[in-house]
Amino acid sequence: MTSSYSECSSTSSHPTNRAPIPPHVGPFEYHPAVMCKGGAKAARWISWGVDNPSRRYHKCHNQGAGCNLFDWYDPPSSSFIREPLCRVVAKREKAELEHFVDELRTKEEEQCAEITAARHELAALRLVASKDEAKIIGLKLSRLEKQRSVLLMLLLTCVFMLFVLVLVKN
Ligand SMILES: [Zn+2]
Repeated sequence: MTSSYSECSSTSSHPTNRAPIPPHVGPFEYHPAVMCKGGAKAARWISWGVDNPSRRYHKCHNQGAGCNLFDWYDPPSSSFIREPLCRVVAKREKAELEHFVDELRTKEEEQCAEITAARHELAALRLVASKDEAKIIGLKLSRLEKQRSVLLMLLLTCVFMLFVLVLVKN
């Protein structure tokens, strides 16, 4: 979005096929076919750059793979047609950019709300975790208390038996 907007406001002679109106035919729906050296039918695009708005050109789809076919199909447009067309493109792209910024802002707000919700969840989880820890410590404590009472019973029994033994001996 941003790059295509800046492309229209730049003075680059490289074509940009970012159309303010969607093309009604596909890039290969034309004839006679323009063939590249590699024997492939070149795609016909429409430039929407600031220097050549609405000017058609041919470019091989294998351009990245070594094919360098690039050829303008239409002659250069006059400044009479170029300037208003570029204003239309800029206006359209500005509106799209504003829409994009609005979308980003909405997304950012949504994420902010999600983060806040996650923070609350984490705080709640921490509370639960500490509750669980307290439960575990409580269970350990009651087990220790049970063991202590068993030991106490054992001790009392032992003391009683000792007392009985001492009594019997005497
Ligand atoms: Zn090619």
